[in-house]
Amino acid sequence: MKLPFHHSKITGRFGTLSAFRKARGMQPHSGVDFGIPVGTPIPALANGTITISAFSQVLGNVTELRIMAYDPAGDGKEKELFYIGYSHNRAEGLPVGTKVKEGDTICFSGDSGSASSGPHSHITVSKQHKGVYGPTSVKIDLIEFVKFNQAMNKRDKAAKK
Ligand SMILES: [Zn+2]
Repeated sequence: MKLPFHHSKITGRFGTLSAFRKARGMQPHSGVDFGIPVGTPIPALANGTITISAFSQVLGNVTELRIMAYDPAGDGKEKELFYIGYSHNRAEGLPVGTKVKEGDTICFSGDSGSASSGPHSHITVSKQHKGVYGPTSVKIDLIEFVKFNQAMNKRDKAAKK
């Protein structure tokens, strides 16, 4: 597992409450934003299945991917279900039920939805299906999530040798 785009593309971090959000009574940021041009291919974070491919007024075109991964809050013993949400896409992504491999392109970035302030990809990690739609149900920082899983995958590989 690795971050879908380079660190330098991060334009919005997880959990931040900007003046813009505060003034509008919004919740702290529920995902991580990557400032990337419209039409950038968005890769699957891990092997998994597409569970949402739909349009939302606020988040625009949303693709959700169900994966098995280690929980950064856990002890790294067993993989658990997670839902990765990709918002503001250019168009609908792969159809629900499609099985994908890590790195496969599942949708293309865009600037859709009323909450988009310019071309970017808003990526959330949730333990709940449709967690991408509920700011309060999304509690995991993508960056911590990826870091932890990289460490665990490295450990698993070493153990197999
Ligand atoms: Zn965002």
